[in-house]
Amino acid sequence: MRHVWVGDRKGSGVFDADLDERVRSSAMAWLRAELLRTPDGISHARLQDFHFEGTRLALWSQRGIRKPAILDAALAIQTTYSNRPDQRPYEDEPGPDGLLRYKWMGTNPNAADNRALRVAMELHLPLIYLVGLRPGLYQPIFPVYVVAEEPELHQFVVTTSEQEETAWEYASQGEVELSRRYLESVRSHRVHQRVFREQVLLAYGSRCAFCNLGHRELIDAAHIREDSAGGEPKVTNGIAMCKLHHATFDNLLVGITPDYRIEVRHDLLEEVDGPTLQHSIKQLHREKIRVPERRIARPDRELLAERFERFMTAVA
Ligand SMILES: [Zn+2]
Repeated sequence: MRHVWVGDRKGSGVFDADLDERVRSSAMAWLRAELLRTPDGISHARLQDFHFEGTRLALWSQRGIRKPAILDAALAIQTTYSNRPDQRPYEDEPGPDGLLRYKWMGTNPNAADNRALRVAMELHLPLIYLVGLRPGLYQPIFPVYVVAEEPELHQFVVTTSEQEETAWEYASQGEVELSRRYLESVRSHRVHQRVFREQVLLAYGSRCAFCNLGHRELIDAAHIREDSAGGEPKVTNGIAMCKLHHATFDNLLVGITPDYRIEVRHDLLEEVDGPTLQHSIKQLHREKIRVPERRIARPDRELLAERFERFMTAVA
C-alpha cells in the first residue's frame, strides 16, 4: 500500500492512496455509465446513489465541496444552477488567465471543506465537477484538477480540460495574457461549452451525423441555434459533425429539414469539382442525418425548422 503524508491534516496524517484511487476511478466509471443512460445530465437524487464496494457513497451533497468520510481529500465540487448568474453563490467566472475559479466555502481557510479541497490540490487528485444545468440536474465533468489557490480572493484555480492544463502551464510561469489568449483560441474551454460538447459527442457516439466519421479530434458539437442567438448548450440543440460538415452547416451550404434530411444548396449541386465536393457534400443531398438512438437526445425539430428557414432565405 502506498502512503503519503498529508501535512495539512489533523490526526495521523496518513493518506491511503490506493483507497483514494479506487474510489475516484470507480466513481468516474459509474458516472460514465450513467451519462450513457441520461446524457442530458444526472439528477441530484441519482448522484447520491453511487455505491463503492457495496456501500452507498453520495457524490452530491448540499455543500459545494464533497468529501466522503472514507477519504482524506475532496472528491467532488459543484456549481448550483442559477438563472441569475450574477447572484450565484459560487461564481464560476474565469480569472484574468481565462481559467476557472472556484470559491472557498465561506472565508475561513481552515474550514473542513476548504481543507479537503486543498489536500486534493496538494496531491493533484482528479476531482468530479458537477455543473448545475437546471434545478436538481447536473452535468459531471471529470477529471478536473485544483492547480492553485488564491487565498486573498478566497478561491481555488481549477482546470477542466487538457487545454486548460496547457493554459495553466503558461499562467503559472507568469504568462497570464498568453494563457488567456490561448484559451480564447481554443474556444471550447468554457465549462458550459465543454458540457455541451461532451453531451453531444456522447449522444452521437463521437461520430459525424452526416458522414459517420468517428475521429473524436475531428468531431465538433454544432449548435442548431447558435450561441450568439441565444441557443442553449443542451444536447437537443446540438448535432455532432466533423469539421468539414460543421463548417458546411455553419456557412449555410447545407440545411437540415425538421425531419432530419440534408438539403444541399442548389448552386453547389450544380458545381463540378473534385471528389471531396462530390462524395462529401453533393451525395448527401436528401440523405437523412444519423440521430441518436435515444429519442430524448435527438435534435429539437422546432430549432431545426428555425435554422432551415434561414438556410432557405440564404438560398433564395
Ligand atoms: Zn462529416
